[in-house]
Amino acid sequence: MSELIEKLKQDIHYIEGMNSCMNCGVCTAICPAAEFYNYDPRTIVESVQRNDEETIRTLIHSDMIWYCGECMSCKTRCPRGNTPGLIIMALRKLAQDEGTFVHSEKGRQQYALKRVIDTHILERGYCVTPDLVKPEMHPEQGPVWEWVYDHMDDVMERVHANFRKPGEGALREIDAESMDELHKIFDVTGGTAFLQNIQTCSEKKAAETGTDMEDYFLHTYTDNNGSHA
Ligand code: SF4
Ligand code: SF4
Repeated sequence: MSELIEKLKQDIHYIEGMNSCMNCGVCTAICPAAEFYNYDPRTIVESVQRNDEETIRTLIHSDMIWYCGECMSCKTRCPRGNTPGLIIMALRKLAQDEGTFVHSEKGRQQYALKRVIDTHILERGYCVTPDLVKPEMHPEQGPVWEWVYDHMDDVMERVHANFRKPGEGALREIDAESMDELHKIFDVTGGTAFLQNIQTCSEKKAAETGTDMEDYFLHTYTDNNGSHA
């Protein structure tokens, strides 16, 4: 068995998600992502089960593994107790570790996610902090969000948030000791190294395409080659 396949099979998501597949297609029938995207969990599981290295390598370079919404509907119906969504997670981890995520449009969005974690979680200590969600990056949120963004202080006062101030209350500033602990959690669990790898691979890809990192970041939000459905 190749090193790549060994690595895939050691992933806890793979171990949890894969028993044996009889190729029935029930997972594809129930999968909401298959309804909208060029995506078929049955064939992915079947290729992985066959240890088809060429297909696995193609998958970790492709958009396909990023179409799954991780809703786990497939888990509820598989007659063999497989969870294709977990197998997809293992393939994504492989793409992240091997750096192959940069070869697909949806995979490159890992950089956007990394930036969100850097700023919202590692700088502020929150999953989402409203003043960092720029309206121009999220046109789908409509004009209301832009208004909130432009009137942030007033809005925070009206909802009684202690916004970015020390002490207690919603959206308060997280104290230095807690932030230090948060960073240590990322360090000891491998999160820091994982994110650094996403950064390094993305910078390399941006350099190859002659794009600066701000443009690269914007592209991860706006690119759509029209081939996904
Ligand atoms: S439902 Fe289960 S057994 Fe059927 S194709 Fe999907 S993973 Fe395989
Ligand atoms: S977890 Fe992924 S593969 Fe499974 S049903 Fe949801 S979108 Fe489809």
